[in-house]
Amino acid sequence: MSRNDYEVIIGLEVHVELSTKTKIFCSCPTEFGGEPNTHTCPICMAMPGTLPVLNEKVVEYAVKAGLATNCEVSRDSKNDRKNYFYPDTPRAYQISQYDKPLCENGYIEIETNGDKKKIGITRIHIEDDAGKLNHDDFGGESLVDLNRAGVPLIEIVSEPDLRNAEEVEKYMRKLKSILEYIEVSDCKMQEGSFRGDINVSVHKPGEPYGTRTEMKNMNSFRSIARAIEYEVERQIDILEEGRKVEQESLRWDDVSGKTFSMRDKEDAEDYRYFPEPDLVAIKLSEEYIQNIKNTLPELPESRKERYLKQYELSEKDANIITSSKYLSDLFESAIKECDNPKAVNNWIISDISRILNEKEMEAIDIPFNGEELGKLVILIDKGIISSSIGKKVLTELFEEPKNPEDIIKEKGWIQISDEGAIKEIVMKILDSNPQSIADFKAGKDRALGFLVGQAMKETKGKANPKMLNEMFLEELKK
Ligand code: ADP
Ligand code: MG
Ligand code: ZN
Repeated sequence: MSRNDYEVIIGLEVHVELSTKTKIFCSCPTEFGGEPNTHTCPICMAMPGTLPVLNEKVVEYAVKAGLATNCEVSRDSKNDRKNYFYPDTPRAYQISQYDKPLCENGYIEIETNGDKKKIGITRIHIEDDAGKLNHDDFGGESLVDLNRAGVPLIEIVSEPDLRNAEEVEKYMRKLKSILEYIEVSDCKMQEGSFRGDINVSVHKPGEPYGTRTEMKNMNSFRSIARAIEYEVERQIDILEEGRKVEQESLRWDDVSGKTFSMRDKEDAEDYRYFPEPDLVAIKLSEEYIQNIKNTLPELPESRKERYLKQYELSEKDANIITSSKYLSDLFESAIKECDNPKAVNNWIISDISRILNEKEMEAIDIPFNGEELGKLVILIDKGIISSSIGKKVLTELFEEPKNPEDIIKEKGWIQISDEGAIKEIVMKILDSNPQSIADFKAGKDRALGFLVGQAMKETKGKANPKMLNEMFLEELKK
């Protein structure tokens, strides 16, 4: 057998910060950032004698997430203490859920090679986030910031159903988009509101699954792919040398491109879970669950089907747009304004996606709204601006969103469609390009394109291209 005969087995634990206004057990704000330790109170700072009170919204959001991922919702759930010491967790235990999570036995679907594949969701439970240690610039000391302590999390544990990095990315993206649609989290990966622990093992088909290692807190798809590749090779090396893979938690280092053992979690941990005595059991009625079910919005899958039928978008484009609630909402509100789904689709797929990439922004951060995008499309459709000016307007919209009509007025970008003005430009360009005239007459049609291009350059893209074309032809044929 060779290295290629190993099968890779991957299961994920995804942590998602919920976008409730207040923390899970106190009324401090959950807002990201802020001066260290300003979003805190005696409860989330774990002062002795304080008592937690469960934020009802957290339960609602977790149940929503469970319903949107085809889980069974438990009618009878509870919180448990998970004991461990870590300096960013002053309580020395986390309040999580052990044997009675809120949601169990769900799945979501991903597409691989044109086929749909179900990825099982083992469980979804609620817990509190830890604070944050700041290691830099304090003369060798570390300082703790408890603003994040007590921010509500759901942990979504998958079955070991994933087989490679591509499937992992598809699964995470699908999960992220579902959570965005149901509005329980902003899922900002760069702010850590959506992060995954990646469990990886290798085995030979037919044999039992191998021992897994776990890479903690991964929040970029690129790092995840590199980390999986590295870890798979490392494990195969170990097995091929006749040694055993140790079950351990690893830290991926993006700079060296390697995984490192996190010493504090070398042994299978014993958290000594026990029911949280300071909180009551969570009993949910049928009516409560049904009410939440009724609030679920249209999910990405169904929006996609609708876009294919209703707007005749390509499968690929519909996938891209509906994979993000924010892109999809932008699309819908823009076509309400301009009634040109094809054009809006093109703007989103090409220029908007490109700018998001360049600026390393996520769709949620697009500063303008669908109405403004729709107005831009109308300006082009009406021939008031050319599409190349349209691109400049879009860049402006990213800088300072406002009515595109005001942008083109302020910038003097209105298309030149005045016959006299166009004629003047055409004559000027012809005068200075006698060679092109000769070329055209000698049958080289390309010369026309060149002349139009020169005229566009001369007018900084403002001349009406259709009129230019017609008028050049007219003159050249004289
Ligand atoms: P723990 O809390 O110890 O990390 P969990 O059971 O909560 O354990 O999570 C285990 C995760 O590891 C799940 O996502 C599961 O799918 C995955 N997993 C379990 N066995 C394997 C394996 N052999 N290879 C890869 N992943 C695995
Ligand atoms: Mg784990
Ligand atoms: Zn607090």
